[in-house]
Amino acid sequence: MSDHIEVDVLVAGAGACGLIAALRARELGARVAVLEKFDRFAGNTVLSCGSIPAAGTRMQREAGITDSVQSMVDDIERVSGRHDASGLIRPIVERSAELVEWLVDHCGAEVKLYTNYKHVGHSIPRLHTQPSGQGLELVNSLAAAAARDGIDIAFGNPVQSLIVDASGAVTGAHVGAGNETYTVSAGKTILATNGYGANRALLREFCPEIADAQYFGAPTAEGEAVQWGRAIGAAVGNTGAYQAHASVAYPHGELLTWSAAEKGACYVNRQGLRFGNENIGYSGFGALVMAQGNEAYAIYDSRIRDYVAHYQQTYKALVDMGGAREAASVSELAALTGIDPANLEKTLATYNQAARGEIADPFGRRDFGMAPLQPPFVVTRVGAALFHTQGGLMVDAGARVLRPGNAPIPNLFAGGGAAVGLSGLRGGNGYVSGNGLLTATVLGYVAGENCARELGY
Ligand SMILES: Cc1cc2nc3c(=O)[nH]c(=O)nc-3n(C[C@H](O)[C@H](O)[C@H](O)COP(=O)(O)OP(=O)(O)OC[C@H]3O[C@@H](n4cnc5c(N)ncnc54)[C@H](O)[C@@H]3O)c2cc1C
Repeated sequence: MSDHIEVDVLVAGAGACGLIAALRARELGARVAVLEKFDRFAGNTVLSCGSIPAAGTRMQREAGITDSVQSMVDDIERVSGRHDASGLIRPIVERSAELVEWLVDHCGAEVKLYTNYKHVGHSIPRLHTQPSGQGLELVNSLAAAAARDGIDIAFGNPVQSLIVDASGAVTGAHVGAGNETYTVSAGKTILATNGYGANRALLREFCPEIADAQYFGAPTAEGEAVQWGRAIGAAVGNTGAYQAHASVAYPHGELLTWSAAEKGACYVNRQGLRFGNENIGYSGFGALVMAQGNEAYAIYDSRIRDYVAHYQQTYKALVDMGGAREAASVSELAALTGIDPANLEKTLATYNQAARGEIADPFGRRDFGMAPLQPPFVVTRVGAALFHTQGGLMVDAGARVLRPGNAPIPNLFAGGGAAVGLSGLRGGNGYVSGNGLLTATVLGYVAGENCARELGY
């Protein structure tokens, strides 16, 4: 490889954000290079369920669902509260429908709307995913579109640092490892390297309460964007926020989808006691599971198991590997798990009374899905985990990286996990389903577009 390369747009990272940014910039005419640290697609997008929230898509109209930008903004704000990037929510939501339709029309992705679940925080079905429910399928579609458009993805080429000229403008990057390094000069640089979920030192600095938890995301999320940005005077925001998940099946290490909770599962600890309102969602509930010694049991029934398995392949895989054990009665359920039988009997009786509307739920749960639960019961043992961080480089609605005071750093853009998220200032309670891919996809799209336009394409 030459020790110096020139492109219009350098994209660091080949996840949803980077691939979409590259495709959009190329579509408008720019010459693009994508540099990927790993030797294959290996970021969080690949691991994800690929669910992208969007308001007002044609898929929603075809399903007879009326949605609006205002409704989606309200849903995100209700859960996130005020935070460093509150001003980004509306402009991102405004481009979300265009983005999802572009994924189908320009990138050839297959996208379907989830109508069987509303998903955490959303008042209307607006999560769009791939037929398999796996982000890998989205990445494969984007990779095929990139090959079609002649976009090179240089695997095994980590960006090491940014090059900045005397005026403070970014002019490219140093790339490579060890003695094998070279420089890329670029008119515009887009940081799409995700967050710092795999960087324990940054986790300890920004969100210490989750720093020692099991990490369920990609090992590639090592926080380079935040480090490069801070080194050249970029502002960071919402750095204490993250998405946790309350429901990683133990010992299988597979996700027990929160759809089971939405459809009626309740969570108990080893003593057979519930310890929170499952309606707050998988991210906020994660801290509650941690507080039980990271050992909890999702209790549901065979109707819920079969319903969810019918729609979600990854959950079906968990069932197939024995991660959803069945019991004919509550006492059998207790014997199977070692949960205190008398408490479990009482807890489930109370839960079912609340589900039937006979009493108020002691934890404030209002939506019970298919509950009351009935035999045969099903149980999955779970623990909580950190999925991905939601803080990062402050950007404007055009994905331009900002200094404190909001002046953009010339030529530098960021999106996805590298940029500030929309999930509150700190903790896991502010995360609405799909916030991760919402900023990855829309900010990637906007970054690619603005890079091309600012370069005169
Ligand atoms: C199990 C799981 C399920 C999830 N499900 C969903 C979901 O359904 N919906 C949703 O909205 N969110 C979901 N998320 C979150 C979502 O996956 C992320 O928010 C999103 O994928 C981030 O996209 P990205 O492009 O920013 O990062 P990534 O997809 O991680 O891509 C970043 C890329 O940058 C590369 N990179 C890193 N450093 C460098 C460097 N120095 N030089 C070059 N390349 C570099 C990495 O190797 C990686 O390929 C889930 C997360 C997990 C862990």
